[in-house]
Order: sequence, then C-alpha cells, then structure tokens
Amino acid sequence: MTNPRLRIAPSPTGYLHVGTARTALYNYLYARQKNGVFVLRIEDTDVERSSKEMTEIIIEGLKWLGLNHDEGPFYQSDYFSHYTDYLPQLEKTGGIYRCFCTPKELEERKQNVIAEKKAWKYDRKCLHLSDEEIKENIEKKKPFAWRVRVPEGKTSYDDLIHGVIEKENSEIEDFVIVRSDNTPVYNFAVVIDDFRMKITHVVRGDDHISNTFKQLHIYRLLDATPPSFAHLPLILDENKAKLSKRTGTVSVLAFRDMGVLPEAFVNFIALIGWNPGGDREIMSLSEMTDLFSFEKVTKKGGVFDYKKLEWMNSKYITNYDSSKLLDLTMPFFRSAGIETSSFDREKLMKIMDSVKEKARYLKDIPELTRFFFEDVKTYDEKGKAKYLTPERIEHLKVLKEKLNSLKEFSHDEIENIYKTYAGEKDLKGGDIIHPTRLALSGRTEGPSLFLMMEIMGKETVFSRLTKIIESDIL
Ligand code: GLU
Repeated sequence: MTNPRLRIAPSPTGYLHVGTARTALYNYLYARQKNGVFVLRIEDTDVERSSKEMTEIIIEGLKWLGLNHDEGPFYQSDYFSHYTDYLPQLEKTGGIYRCFCTPKELEERKQNVIAEKKAWKYDRKCLHLSDEEIKENIEKKKPFAWRVRVPEGKTSYDDLIHGVIEKENSEIEDFVIVRSDNTPVYNFAVVIDDFRMKITHVVRGDDHISNTFKQLHIYRLLDATPPSFAHLPLILDENKAKLSKRTGTVSVLAFRDMGVLPEAFVNFIALIGWNPGGDREIMSLSEMTDLFSFEKVTKKGGVFDYKKLEWMNSKYITNYDSSKLLDLTMPFFRSAGIETSSFDREKLMKIMDSVKEKARYLKDIPELTRFFFEDVKTYDEKGKAKYLTPERIEHLKVLKEKLNSLKEFSHDEIENIYKTYAGEKDLKGGDIIHPTRLALSGRTEGPSLFLMMEIMGKETVFSRLTKIIESDIL
C-alpha cells in the first residue's frame, strides 16, 4: 500500500473554528501514524466570502496547534481556471449536460412544485433538449451551467466511521458542477483537487456526508477510484446543540488569547468524539499519534466541555516547562500592565513555578503574581483583622531582625528562622506565616511563603514588613 495522503481544506470565510481544528488534528494524527502526507489546501473559490486575513488566521491557528503540514498551502483560487479543463472528458462519458434554465425559470418551476406540496428537485428539462435545441442555444450565446446526470439505482460507500451508507439516487438531483459564469461549485472543485493531489483519505465533518454521494458520481465519471471517507461527528455545546458562535467560543485563536496552552487544547479537542480506551486523558501529540484509529471515533456528536478544558489546561500549566511558560505568559503580563523587567529571567521562571499549580489559564498568572512586581496598595480586609494583631506585628518585628542576620536570603535559611522562632515561642507556623504573607502580598493566599520571600529578595521583603510594622494600617 502506498503511503496515505490526507488534507485539511478549510474555507477562509471565517476564523479557524474548533471543529476545523479537530478535523485537522485527526487528519494529522492518521497521516503521521501511517507515515503519510498532510496537505493544507485553502478552499478560497468563494471569492466574496473569502479573505486573505482569514486565510492568515487559519494558518496561524494550525501553526499554534503544532499541526504542521507537509505540502501546501495550496490555494484553490490559483487553480481556478483549470477546473473546467476536465469538462470535455466528462462530457464524453455522457454523464454531464448543459443546463440553460435561468435562476428565474428554476424558481418559478420550483414554486409550482412546492404549491402542489411536493419536494422540488431539478426537473431535467435540459436533459431532454434535442441536439438542435442545444446547438441553437449555444449559437444564441445563452448562458448555461453543467449538471451531472445522476443515473437510476443507489449510491453507497463504506465510511470509516459510520460503516456502509447508502442512498437512493432518486434522492439526488442532477446537480450543478460548473455555474453559468464558468466557476466550479464546491463539490466539483473538491473532487478535482482531491483527485489531482492524490488524496487517499478524506476526513471531514459529518455535514459533508450528503455531498459525498454527489462527489462519488463525479469520481465515477472521472473513472477514478474515490478516496476512503471518514465523517466526523459534530462538536456540540453544553445543550447538545451544534457548537456555534452564539453559544460559546468557537475560534481557536480566542482560546490562545485567553491563555490555553496549545498542547492542552490539542489534547482536549482530540478527546471530543474520540476515545482511545482506558481512562487516560492527558496525552501528547506523539502519544495520540500512536493511539489514533477511526474505529474509536464516536458516531455521535461530542460535547465541548469548558470545565474539562479548564481542568486539562491547569494540569498542563502545572507540568509545563517554566521557560516556555514564561515566554507564553509575557503577552499576558503586558496586557495586564505589569512591568517585569526588574527581575532577571531566572527569577521570573521561579515566579512561574511558584504559581503554576494555581493557574487555570495563562491570563490568571499576572493577577496571581502582581505583588511580586508592584507595591502592595491594599490588604485583604478580613485577613487584616485576623492576622495583623499587635501581638503578631510584634513577632514580625523580631523576625525581621533575625532575617537581617542572614548571609543568604534563601528559602531554606528563611524557613529555618521561622521554624526556630515558632519553636522558641511555642507558636503554630500559621501564627507567623499568615501575617508575613499578608504584609508582603496583601493577600491571605499565594505561593509558598519562603519561596516567595526568596524571589522578592531582602530589600523588598524588608520594606514591606517595615510598612506594616511602622504604620498603623489597622
Ligand atoms: N472547504 C470545505 C469546508 O471547509 C472542506 C470540506 C472538505 O473537507 O471536503 O467545509
């Protein structure tokens, strides 16, 4: 068997949708697993609705997810005039014909049929034109479209996910493949492209199943073996309706912009509608590549569960490489107005490590760490009443002096001072830890105190303790 060739073929008429990203992912996984090729083809023949900007957004989104293509991007618009090159070949088979019906005529006939409470399908008026009538129309330069003549019988194919699906040809109308302005319709362009690009597996959304039957008729006329088809179930929102812009976030880059890690996002979308078996949920792209199979893709739609994404993202953040995490968090610091330049990279990485476990999204990190970078202006009210009592402030005073004697202002040395002091005074750790934390961060919760102190450095720690000791903020 030759190596498979797969493709993702987005239409740049909108942002990169979550559903398209998942389709790209399954194509990618299968291509990688089978040492195949993953092609990116931009289906931009709908000139009015497509834009260059959207194309860039789609490419950027796929890149962000790490779904790198091997060939392309190919643009359908570059090939625009070539689709019709196939018409003579198809005409020879007798399987296509010119349709001179105008949109107005079609609409009138359609309304008549509907008035009789019947379903409309093209009535084949032009299939029955005589050779003379056709000749005459052509001579008169009457515009015409090309339609496929769908024969009697049934059309069926074996879907890699749904199994054998069959359709009565009587349900498929003689459909247009080239419009009267000579432009190809999607069903035609997609077949010609998949054929030219030697695509072996077409993996796409369920909503294309009905198109597949039409496309199979084009393959038949081309005398070409159709690719294998796999139609993926829809992604649903929490109300089990099709995930849409109206009910939630559907743009992939919007998830990046809220601070979802690409690895977490890829892992999360992979599991909407695919279950590799077992209860393992956290998987890298290469692990998923090994495990992927169409048999394990569900037939029914899968729900996009935001809570699960949040959980998964926080797991990924917790285990992420600090240096990479820092790079990805920098834009979030900037948009939160936090100036990080007073810390060197090593310290910034420690700051990342100190809050990794608490962040659900990267956008949480600036707020979790703001006090490292900025002076404390407000103190938690409840905490103030509870922890900054005169007695405890007295402890802070003594502790500050003890800390002053430290040669190295490090986590272990600081911890040693606190432990010894608590022992001497018969205090619980919290009796001195909570007041210190509040004095240093204004908060009652946060990263490990001693690590936080080490990162802040002696100078900052001292000035913040002094502020509490000397002022009467209570
Ligand atoms: N451009 C089509 C879409 O975005 C591609 C469908 C296909 O993969 O054949 O839905």
